[in-house]
Amino acid sequence: MASFLDYTRTHVEQAASALGYSADVLAALQKPKSVIAFDIPLPLEKGETRIFKAWRVQHNDARGPYKGGIRFHPDSNLDEVTALASLMTWKTALVGIPYGGAKGAITVNPRELSAKELEAVSRSYVRKLVDVIGPKKDVPAPDMGTTPQIMAWMVDEYSRLVGHFEPTAFTGKPVEIGGSFGRDTATGFGGAVVLREFLRSTKQEARSKSVAVQGFGAVGAAIARLLFKDGFKIVALSDSRGAIYHPDGIDVEDIVRVQEERGLVNNRPCSIEEASGGKCRTISNQELLESDVEILIPAALENVITEENAGRIKAQVILEMANGPVTPGAEAMLIKRGVEIIPDILANSGGVVGSYFEWVQGLQRFYWEEGEVMGKIEKIMVKAFAEVARARAQGGQPRSKSGRGSPSQGLGGFWREASYRIAVGRVAEAMHLRGWV
Ligand code: NAD
Repeated sequence: MASFLDYTRTHVEQAASALGYSADVLAALQKPKSVIAFDIPLPLEKGETRIFKAWRVQHNDARGPYKGGIRFHPDSNLDEVTALASLMTWKTALVGIPYGGAKGAITVNPRELSAKELEAVSRSYVRKLVDVIGPKKDVPAPDMGTTPQIMAWMVDEYSRLVGHFEPTAFTGKPVEIGGSFGRDTATGFGGAVVLREFLRSTKQEARSKSVAVQGFGAVGAAIARLLFKDGFKIVALSDSRGAIYHPDGIDVEDIVRVQEERGLVNNRPCSIEEASGGKCRTISNQELLESDVEILIPAALENVITEENAGRIKAQVILEMANGPVTPGAEAMLIKRGVEIIPDILANSGGVVGSYFEWVQGLQRFYWEEGEVMGKIEKIMVKAFAEVARARAQGGQPRSKSGRGSPSQGLGGFWREASYRIAVGRVAEAMHLRGWV
């Protein structure tokens, strides 16, 4: 069965082919520049020692320092990290911020560790990578399973090793140690802006549209809250433990309030189902994906919409807040039925844009108020959406003089294809200018 990495490579291949690139250029675009794999042994408080696998994949830095999150998940593997690193390259290029792409992971379930153990594993990761990361080389950030607290430990370890406080080595930090206002909600905010622009461009009324959100973590909760505030009807929500449904809409703030009141047990909030207090019908995550809604927002894992369940998806719009939630086979089936899929590299890029502004503020040691940060993120997201919409609308554009295609010229088609054509074109152009291809 094809993997997430195969799917990502297919998107790049299609874009490269549409732009007329040679096999050599395509190979250079696909290949990560550096893959670092190592083990992290962790002596547990109980006495035994666990060994976790860890990686940092640095995919491409033609346009700027590597940038990408660190995932803590027991099922992480090198293929997944490589795919995610490549997505970061396309994402940063698509929104036009001066970064490349990277990703990291540790095969750890953070909920199984005490705070002390989690801190130890986070610090070990940095010790191993200290020579290859840093504000001008590779700037990690949170992803699934990682939090601002983990970034704070990592900043501290990095600072200790380089001999001075260096908050710009990581983004997604708490505001108290050089984080940015708005970074915690930036991914959700960016997604909400993209959805608004999409609905505007297709002349659809946003208010009261029904929405299902899979995943209620950093990304899912942020976008669910923003859309709820904007008058969308959130009818289904979920986490890894299950999903809830209410045809009249769920009070998202109520769920958040209950989770906050109850606090964390074993490093996680009470489940969505418990937080709903029996006011909603309990459904499975699979049923959530297939529920009768206008907009479906996968915001948890990759490959959740496949050829197996695509035929049962009822939503007319899928906003990919997770990375890689729709497989190409499923996408082809959905597009045939007229379903609009706003791809991950556009929909969830608000997070890296927020990270970019955190980095910029850190480099200049001059921090902005939240309104200013959000205004800057919004501007970039609106521009990126407009560029993708334009590239998508343009049909059969001629190639540029160099024969490598112009980054902003599209060949018509779908949102993902248009997004990749822009992103791949920009990265190839940078590699060409630097004499790499
Ligand atoms: P998170 O760890 O904060 O939250 C993940 C959520 O998904 C949790 O609610 C968890 O319970 C739920 N979940 C886990 N397994 C599930 C399953 N099998 N079924 C349903 N729900 C499940 O992670 P996050 O940072 O919100 O990341 C979610 C997705 O968004 C990932 O694909 C990530 O790569 C992507 N993403 C994150 C950011 C960011 O800024 N954090 C930016 C861009 C993209």
